[in-house]
Amino acid sequence: MAVQTETTATTTVDLGPASGLSCRECGERFPLGPIFACELCFGPLEVAYDLPVGDPEGLRKQIESGPDNIWRYAPLLPVPADVATKPNLNPGWTKLVKADNLAAELGVTGGLFIKDDSGNPTHSFKDRVVAQALEAARAFGFTTLSCSSTGNLAGAVGAAAARAGFRSCVFIPHDLEQGKVVMAAVYGGELVGIEGNYDDVNRFCSELIGDPVGEGWGFVNVNLRPYYGEGSKTLAYEICEQLGWQLPDQLVVPIASGSQLTKIDKGLQELIKLGLVEDKPYKIFGAQAEGCSPVSTAFKAGHDVVRPQKPNTIAKSLAIGNPADGPYVLDIARRTGGAVEDVNDEQVVDAIKLLARTEGIFAETAGGVTVGVTRKLIEAGVLDPALTTVVLNTGDGLKTLDAVAPTSQATATIKPSLDAFRAAGLAG
Ligand SMILES: *Cc1c(COP(=O)(O)O)cnc(C)c1O
Repeated sequence: MAVQTETTATTTVDLGPASGLSCRECGERFPLGPIFACELCFGPLEVAYDLPVGDPEGLRKQIESGPDNIWRYAPLLPVPADVATKPNLNPGWTKLVKADNLAAELGVTGGLFIKDDSGNPTHSFKDRVVAQALEAARAFGFTTLSCSSTGNLAGAVGAAAARAGFRSCVFIPHDLEQGKVVMAAVYGGELVGIEGNYDDVNRFCSELIGDPVGEGWGFVNVNLRPYYGEGSKTLAYEICEQLGWQLPDQLVVPIASGSQLTKIDKGLQELIKLGLVEDKPYKIFGAQAEGCSPVSTAFKAGHDVVRPQKPNTIAKSLAIGNPADGPYVLDIARRTGGAVEDVNDEQVVDAIKLLARTEGIFAETAGGVTVGVTRKLIEAGVLDPALTTVVLNTGDGLKTLDAVAPTSQATATIKPSLDAFRAAGLAG
């Protein structure tokens, strides 16, 4: 049974249960389209839904019998019902790893899990958001996909465009890690390095959208941003389903623009509303690198506004100095009783190696940020070790080898003889 919860705008495209766009600030409604800011107050637009309330058992069964990717949640996403039949990279349904060794190391007794999104097709969480934006681009008739990226998004857009037969042209800061550049270029689309940081790239893309040069382009994180953001809800859905349709008590989520964190909260709220999980309190903790910590700085100072910073950190995928969703992240951390914390580059490297040596998971620097912040918050008594905690790893360590290469070398280099091996002191 589909229940209309709000006034419905006229829709001309089929994006499943999505019924329109609504302004996050003033609530004004707009029809579905490639727009991202409210005409009245310039607030960000959100996808609004006619969600299938009233039959949680039936919905749960429908989801459980769906494909092993994000499309199992199609009834809750801005995509057509037959989305699984379209050419798409079909990301998601990544592992939720029970991290008992790491838990022992950190003193967590309530259950510690790593949601490991390095297992996505282009090895970061960005495949989730791009998959949604691609469906919106298809519905609106775009044939070129574009984005401003800190690295992972460029690769995810390039790959999705290749698979779906779109042209792609993506923009990155010129000084990214080699792994990110190669992953963005290899799929054959156009890749443009901009001499500047991510915030310069983003500003450039906003200008491009307003210019005839960019006409007909679907920028996944600009004019398709409302749809893009919804992809992050699938992290919340998967975590709860993988926990046996239960909310975790605590989540530790990385922050770049803050979109992922806000949409994880939206996803959890929807599951509660739909009766798919039992309603109980949960806390969301945000994680940043000290060298780009505008949100944690505002959180600790008790501010509502986020003052932009100039990024300088090895966690380049999170290096957004002027995060669009920063104020909403602050709201969510405060409302849920969570916090926002940061760790320095040395702590990021230590945390990458801690996760690798305890659980056999090699995270990119963003995963070092979340694991490092988890450790710091436990030591500070902010995160409760007796509660169920889910920590996100949003990317693969192979993309940021430089971060750990200096301290991850061969133990010894020897001649191929037993004498040499004994002499190296490694026998036994
Ligand atoms: C983009 C990204 C994030 C989060 O980005 P938001 O802009 O906050 O949604 C987290 N981790 C990695 C590895 C990313 O590439």
